Amino acid sequence: MSRGPANSGTVKRTRKGVPLSARAVLTVDLSALRSNWARLNEVSGRAECAGVVKADAYGLGIAPIARALTNEGCKTFFVASIDEGRIAREVQPGAVIYILDGLLPGAEAHYSGFDLRPVLSSLAEVRDWAAYCRARNQKLAAALHIETGMHRLAMPEDELKQLVAVPDIFAAFDLCLVMSHLACADDPANPMNERQRHLFNSLRALLPPAPASLSNSGGTFLGPNYHYDLVRPGIALYGGRAHEGGPNPMRTVVRMAARIVHLQKVAAGETIGYGGTFKVQRPSRIATIACGYADGFLRALSVATGQPGPVGYIGDYPVPVVGRVSMDFITVDVTDVPEDLARRGGWVEVMGDRVTVDDLTDQAGTIGYELLSRLGPRVHRVYEGGS
Ligand SMILES: *Cc1c(COP(=O)(O)O)cnc(C)c1O
Repeated sequence: MSRGPANSGTVKRTRKGVPLSARAVLTVDLSALRSNWARLNEVSGRAECAGVVKADAYGLGIAPIARALTNEGCKTFFVASIDEGRIAREVQPGAVIYILDGLLPGAEAHYSGFDLRPVLSSLAEVRDWAAYCRARNQKLAAALHIETGMHRLAMPEDELKQLVAVPDIFAAFDLCLVMSHLACADDPANPMNERQRHLFNSLRALLPPAPASLSNSGGTFLGPNYHYDLVRPGIALYGGRAHEGGPNPMRTVVRMAARIVHLQKVAAGETIGYGGTFKVQRPSRIATIACGYADGFLRALSVATGQPGPVGYIGDYPVPVVGRVSMDFITVDVTDVPEDLARRGGWVEVMGDRVTVDDLTDQAGTIGYELLSRLGPRVHRVYEGGS
């Protein structure tokens, strides 16, 4: 999403509140995040719009992200682990929090102690949760994840049939959500979506009535048939595209900039970086910036001579990445940038409106989810746009 000619402004913004010691900065725009949630909430019509904040909110920081989503009206969160659930609980005492991992054996008290709801996905898990509830004489809430084609976490049909035959099982706990997960929602034309939806309907009918949920970000954009009572977007909240191809209507949430720590002239014919894979074609000025694969700038974004690669920006000047990405650094060609702009300590924007997460991951042969969730802890986080 373009935000006008705020290019040099973007770099300036990333400096706000950033200590001089910071070498790379990740700016998270919470106002864009809130507006992305509001948009998904609108798209999902009468269904509730939850927020998926697993893996530290896709690498962006679970506490500030959950707080901002709550401020926009989000009441339900999904995380992967008990530990993530606890962090979310600390910042959101009133929220509904689901643990996608399911129920770890013997860990029941870790859920009930923090009012976390397991997403149960096997007969054994349901039996354990029901037994725990009976022992406490308390009908604690849990979701049930049923298999419709993903074959990763959910309860298969034969187990589901056994489950419904267990006497009084649904009297023991509060079945507050029946859910499944789409395997191909990023591809709207894929017939798997409809197959899963139909199977979800028929399997759900075997269970006592309960609110239902099928869709992640991609599913939320597949239309009202996919909304049920609750949608579970993750990546679209953070500005990533929900569907492969086609326009991305979400606002940019994440920007990354890194500082120039070294500048040098390199003669034509010399090579740059490990492996000597990039040969300089003309007398060049090369800037080394403090961001490498340990910071989440994927090594697959390395550029050999003659290959297309990612481009950073200094103000409005594009600065192509040259050579291999190393652990701590990348090198960019600043030959065409005025010297007062490409200076020691200056900032290079490596991710943002003009070089989106999706652009980078297309080049690297991966997906936005991976890039975001692997952003390094060393990168200084700045939150802007309120809370
Ligand atoms: C991660 C996840 C989501 C969110 O998926 P996005 O594609 O990021 O929107 C929703 N539901 C389940 C079960 C998940 O594991």
